Amino acid sequence: MKESACLLHTIYIGLGSNLENPVSQINAARIAIGLIDGVTEVAFSSLYHSLPMGPQDQPDYVNAVIGVETRLAPIDLLHQLQAIEAAQGRVRKGERWGARTVDLDVLLYGDQDIDIPDLRVPHIGIAERSFVLYPLFEIAPQLVIPGKGILADLVANCPLDGLKRMA
Ligand code: ATP
Ligand code: CA
Ligand code: CA
Ligand code: CA
Repeated sequence: MKESACLLHTIYIGLGSNLENPVSQINAARIAIGLIDGVTEVAFSSLYHSLPMGPQDQPDYVNAVIGVETRLAPIDLLHQLQAIEAAQGRVRKGERWGARTVDLDVLLYGDQDIDIPDLRVPHIGIAERSFVLYPLFEIAPQLVIPGKGILADLVANCPLDGLKRMA
């Protein structure tokens, strides 16, 4: 095993849902992530209500961001997250940004830049999406995003686009 695979990293994961009781889906995914062997939750944002990206003929979303610590390699963590998506009944219909019971994106993996076939970190949309930036800023206000800059600056320059923190 590579030595880097043994280090404890802080990872941020974006959660989104717009089908089959999104609040329950997000809470179930949060619990499932915490139950992954070798993964420990260290922070969880408020829930946010957001408007759909892409196809507009779909329900609004609920989003959140979780911070975890783990020694799992990035691709292994991704596979665990994909197993949770499948377990919660996510069906991929080929349409980009279509409705889903749950979407789990690896936003950040420590300060690493990762670009392998199935995994790009920082996540491709991290610097432009209000439903990612605002909850991330809530739990990690001091973050610097590799290649993108200071999170606080990204938030200050990102319109809400209808994002609302839920009570
Ligand atoms: P977007 O990625 O723009 O938010 P999406 O979440 O709807 O869109 P998916 O259909 O969930 O897209 O994922 C498409 C592919 O993205 C997955 O098969 C996965 O391998 C790949 N992928 C690349 N980087 C990441 C990442 N950081 N987190 C999760 N999946 C990623
Ligand atoms: Ca665990
Ligand atoms: Ca996504
Ligand atoms: Ca995804």
